[in-house]
Amino acid sequence: MILFKKANSLHQWVDAQQRKGQKVGFVPTMGALHLGHISLIESSRKDNDITISSIFVNPTQFNDPKDFEKYPVTIEKDILQLEQAGCDVLFLPSVEEIYPNGTTPKQHYDLQEMEILLEGKFRSGHYQGVCQVLHRLLKIVQPDNLYLGQKDYQQCMVISRLVELMGINDKTNINICPTLRETDGLAMSSRNMRLSEAERVKAVLIFQSLSYIKDNLVAGETDTIKNKAIAMLSDEGFRVDYIEIADAKTLQTVSNWDGKKKLVALAAAFLNEVRLIDNLLLN
Ligand code: AMP
Repeated sequence: MILFKKANSLHQWVDAQQRKGQKVGFVPTMGALHLGHISLIESSRKDNDITISSIFVNPTQFNDPKDFEKYPVTIEKDILQLEQAGCDVLFLPSVEEIYPNGTTPKQHYDLQEMEILLEGKFRSGHYQGVCQVLHRLLKIVQPDNLYLGQKDYQQCMVISRLVELMGINDKTNINICPTLRETDGLAMSSRNMRLSEAERVKAVLIFQSLSYIKDNLVAGETDTIKNKAIAMLSDEGFRVDYIEIADAKTLQTVSNWDGKKKLVALAAAFLNEVRLIDNLLLN
């Protein structure tokens, strides 16, 4: 695996490969890698000649400074995992390399509803930060294929919008990969490392509350089932930011389901200090 720390060197190297006709897949991450991340590497390897991953804990997307400080860093283990998975290139930039002119935003990304719905509502500025870093990474790498996890459902929609705003949708194809789960159903996440043993046991309730919605939803009003799912978490000591049943395309809440529209159930909840998110497509 080749390691790049400088944006210019990586950009020139990728450009040279693409001129030789090599297809490039890109998997951006914040490290503390688990099998969910590795599944994206595997998808990229199937479709491309070269797979590039990045590890960069992006300060501009953390609305809570404590969350940033406590974000797990396991770089040596990450490098081993990437090598074992057959990743060709790792980009490991410094903050200065990604933000040579400082972290203050230079532009506002017009994300429309995504900015105020769900994660947008509870994590003010989060998606502007996500766009800030992905804009820079996509300009450096200019991949043919970009790999994202369904685990961050709304983020996939935001990044699709960014790709559209950057005018690169004919160049960079977005691939959304399924959420990898632990055997009990908990969605794999770097944040799971921060859970105590007792919290880890409880954390599966997020998946179970979403599964409860999936298994019991029928056409008609959706609030009753949603409120039951919220109670499943709050009764066990979770601080629930939201559970929503939403249109899978627009993320608008659906409070009366016609039985046909494609739906997604999304959840975000704190177990003490640790905020976890998950989602399930319902039909
Ligand atoms: P992160 O390091 O959390 O920024 O995640 C990097 C990429 O991995 C994002 O596209 C995530 O959606 C994806 N990802 C995170 N967790 C999982 C998972 N459990 N299954 C599949 N993809 C995931």
